[in-house]
Amino acid sequence: MSGRLAVIGLGPGDDRYLTREASDALAAADALYGYGPYLDRVPVRPGQTRLASDNREEGARAEAALRHAAQGAAVAIVSGGDPGVFAMAASVCEAIETGPDSWRAVDIVIVPGITAMLAVAARAGAPLGHDFCAISLSDNLKPWELIERRLEAASSAGFVIALYNPVSRARPWQLAKAFGLLARHLPKRTPVIFGRAVGRQDESVTVTPLAAAQDIPADMATLIIVGSRDIRLIARPGRSALVYTPRAVEKVSA
Ligand code: SAH
Repeated sequence: MSGRLAVIGLGPGDDRYLTREASDALAAADALYGYGPYLDRVPVRPGQTRLASDNREEGARAEAALRHAAQGAAVAIVSGGDPGVFAMAASVCEAIETGPDSWRAVDIVIVPGITAMLAVAARAGAPLGHDFCAISLSDNLKPWELIERRLEAASSAGFVIALYNPVSRARPWQLAKAFGLLARHLPKRTPVIFGRAVGRQDESVTVTPLAAAQDIPADMATLIIVGSRDIRLIARPGRSALVYTPRAVEKVSA
């Protein structure tokens, strides 16, 4: 009775972004666990239980799902985007590492999804065409000083930076502080891409120079890509600009 736990990425938006593997894994589950708004994206199936929990309860959710799977059930946890990017797959691994031995016998399947960074990048052009990194601006799970150090290191080393979790009600000043730090290492005109609710009906994408980035509204549904010194912007008449990072970088410019 070892059971199975699938950790499934739903992609950033509607079901056009759901992979076939994810859709098959959803159909095969006896029970679905997840944050309510993510569960709401999954079609209701007769006989399948749904257990919604708050977004801040990732550890408890992972443990509940593992307990359930260890009883022999086919359980699934859903995540927005990719489950391995600032999301549930790591919470499940952490619970297994510290939990009872019986959880190590559960069959674990991680089903990848399109992460927000890739969906936003695709809308703007190819900003991730060269080296890049992803940083969560949330200091709920790490100290703010560490975030500052990573922003400085990444921008001065020439990485394009994808910022997840840029703002929340409890974290009102951090994003402006981050732009201030980045401006010390990057030219004022560096393109910054704001993608909000990408893949959903109310999607919006805005590109602005770093010097004006603090004037663009952002919230928890926004992913921000900050360019490097190598990033390029191609203006096009009557169309949005194309933002890309060339495949080849010839000199140390950062
Ligand atoms: N596992 C998710 C990320 C979870 S962290 C993934 O792989 O995408 C939550 C953050 O992801 C949000 O604060 C926002 O920065 C970003 N995000 C998630 N969905 C998004 C979307 N549709 N459009 C823009 N950003 C999104």
